[in-house]
Amino acid sequence: MSESLTGKVAVVTGAGRPRGIGRAAAIELARAGADVVVTDLARPGPRVAGIPTVAEDEEGLQDAVTEIESMGRRGKAFPLDVTAEADVVEVIDRVQAEFGGVDILFNNAGTPVGVKPFLELDNEAWDLSWKVHVMGMVYTSRAVIPLMRERGGGVIINNSSASGLRALPGYAAYTATKHAVIGLTKTLALDFGVDGIRAVSICPGDIDTDMTDLGMALAVEHFGVDPDQQESLAPIDTIALRRRGQASEIGKVVAWLASDGASYVSGNSMLIDGALMEGI
Ligand code: NDP
Repeated sequence: MSESLTGKVAVVTGAGRPRGIGRAAAIELARAGADVVVTDLARPGPRVAGIPTVAEDEEGLQDAVTEIESMGRRGKAFPLDVTAEADVVEVIDRVQAEFGGVDILFNNAGTPVGVKPFLELDNEAWDLSWKVHVMGMVYTSRAVIPLMRERGGGVIINNSSASGLRALPGYAAYTATKHAVIGLTKTLALDFGVDGIRAVSICPGDIDTDMTDLGMALAVEHFGVDPDQQESLAPIDTIALRRRGQASEIGKVVAWLASDGASYVSGNSMLIDGALMEGI
């Protein structure tokens, strides 16, 4: 991609994990010319054995900054829990002070706590799914939209999921809140298009990240699936391209959506799933 984002400032949430979509998008945004602020949770989320810890997340954020700077861009890392509105406001204020504004917001933070049999899914998991997936995006959008208006426009890209458009059994809180992301994105596009602000949802399918492993591990735990049969939760032969996607393949789409190449793309939901055939 050419350096179509030169002079732009991007903020990415949930960007700490080295294999994650947030990290990959931050790198692709920088490759396209943007200065990039990477943020992530600084306290433990739900953990399952074998999944990296928050300490590794923080290292991951610093590694991302190093890689962004190695491309000649400015990079900066902030710990940020997107469910804490005061913290969101503080971080965006600091970005405004240090970078002069925000042009691109990639709302990527997500949690798999909503993966459980419906009758076992407690209110805490429903609340956390709602807070991370929906209110987190509300808080960040509310903080950056006035800054985007000042700059004459901007782009908000919200990470929904293929589960934002269809449903898998056992994913109730994840599915319901990812559907809500798409409704929120449509509203942002309609309300702020007049200010030159575009809003788009992306709907990745089965991507090879820690969260996919964590979702699998939770499904093994809660649905009693034989770990040796984990593959059956996401069978490759239900994907037309016959492989999982890589985070970088999502990151490249994010960088394109943020660019002028997508200047008339707003309000819609882009499936990036290698033609996934399962679900309704
Ligand atoms: P990752 O685990 O790499 O990314 C999720 C990130 O969000 C983690 O770094 C996590 O932090 C962070 N996070 C969780 N809660 C919060 C919070 N309250 N505030 C800030 N950050 C938080 O997984 P993926 O890259 O797979 O997921 C990224 C996004 O893509 C998610 O929204 C996910 O739902 C979506 N997605 C993923 C798909 C896939 O197949 N992997 C498919 C469709 C959508 P921590 O590391 O501390 O837990």
